[in-house]
Amino acid sequence: MPHIRTYLIGITSAILLGCGGSSDSESPESPVTIPPEQNSYMVSTSLSEGGSITPDSFEMAENSEKTFLIGINPGFELESVSGCDGTVEGEKFTVSNPEKNCTIEVKFKAFQYTVNVTTSLGGWIDSPSYQVSYGEKAKINIHPNSDHVIESVTGCGGMLNEQQYTTGNISADCTVNVNFSGRFPLPEEGIERIRLPVVVHVIENEYVQISDEQIYSQIEATNRHFRALNSDDLETIEEEFAPYIADTGIQLYLASHDPDGNPHSGINRKTAQLSVITLGNEYAKAEKGGIDAWPNDQYINVWVGYARDLEGTLGLLGRANIPGFVEDRLIGVVVADSVFGVIPPREPRFDEGKTFTHELGHLFGLIGHTHGVPTDENTHRHLTCDGLPTTQCKNSDLAMNFMNAETDDKDQKMFSISQYQVMEKWIKTGPLKALYINNQANN
Ligand SMILES: [Zn+2]
Repeated sequence: MPHIRTYLIGITSAILLGCGGSSDSESPESPVTIPPEQNSYMVSTSLSEGGSITPDSFEMAENSEKTFLIGINPGFELESVSGCDGTVEGEKFTVSNPEKNCTIEVKFKAFQYTVNVTTSLGGWIDSPSYQVSYGEKAKINIHPNSDHVIESVTGCGGMLNEQQYTTGNISADCTVNVNFSGRFPLPEEGIERIRLPVVVHVIENEYVQISDEQIYSQIEATNRHFRALNSDDLETIEEEFAPYIADTGIQLYLASHDPDGNPHSGINRKTAQLSVITLGNEYAKAEKGGIDAWPNDQYINVWVGYARDLEGTLGLLGRANIPGFVEDRLIGVVVADSVFGVIPPREPRFDEGKTFTHELGHLFGLIGHTHGVPTDENTHRHLTCDGLPTTQCKNSDLAMNFMNAETDDKDQKMFSISQYQVMEKWIKTGPLKALYINNQANN
């Protein structure tokens, strides 16, 4: 038995020391020399992304010292290194006299960079700046106003895909420049462009499904109408009226911020079992389940929703609540969802978005109609043609006018120059003056 024991000790020593055992081991009768017992411990390492440590593990004898070298990748810095009761000095970590197996933990931290974003007028982005770690990319969502398009996006080595710009891998602070351009050409010479923000409140229920795209299509169509860019319509206007077709310069865009200044799509949805064409105007009253107007000295309020009676018959297609004629909280335009927008299917005969344009005509001071529903004398004066003796151009001749109340969408084609003059005055110096002034910076 002693023989076996001696032999085992010899093997153990050989393993621990990594070389040579007792030279006497082949002679079991000789006394065995046992070297002082040497323990050894495993030092392992654990790393976050961003660097290295060398060696990544090491077997240390007790009463020894070992220095580990830390490597830091570009774009990173050493955040912390700890474990094994070691000490750090610069990029060296020294472990002395280990007493057990242990782990060195190394943490690296990526440098943070700022991607700033600047925009021209005509749209908005989610945030004016982004914090990005070294080597990462920023994704910037770009929202042109509904009367604008993205013209260009440059900076930080990125790529534009539809309305999202992805930067290159970031390794320094940089700036992205976003430029928007008008979807429509500038107005004719001598006509001022008047841009006004719209908030569309949608009263949703099981009958009302109106997509964002449908809403965009309406704003774009109406902008064409106000700018006399509905060329298919205008080509069919008789020659004698052609000189009186007005480019009003008026352009609408979906609001880019809510009343608190937070970024917003300008589309404000709420579920409610309400009709938008009601005597009580519940749609505009939050306490009745509707949606309160946003301040009408900053926005044009539009409510879109269900407009049928109990039998499902479509009632009024739209209504304008004109300043001075209603309490302030109701000012705006109300339109049946089935005639809002121009993406099929829309209500037959009212599928070109002219209802909204017509109601805005009222909101902008064209109180009466050129045809149909009675107009008073005062109203009549607003709707004359221009430049021709009244015997040759009477209101009744303007059958193709947007303010004809008794015709289908396809037959409403123009505002006249005198109507433009009424609207311009009404907006700039009349009941909508505050709205105009508060948004002048956007024009
Ligand atoms: Zn009307």
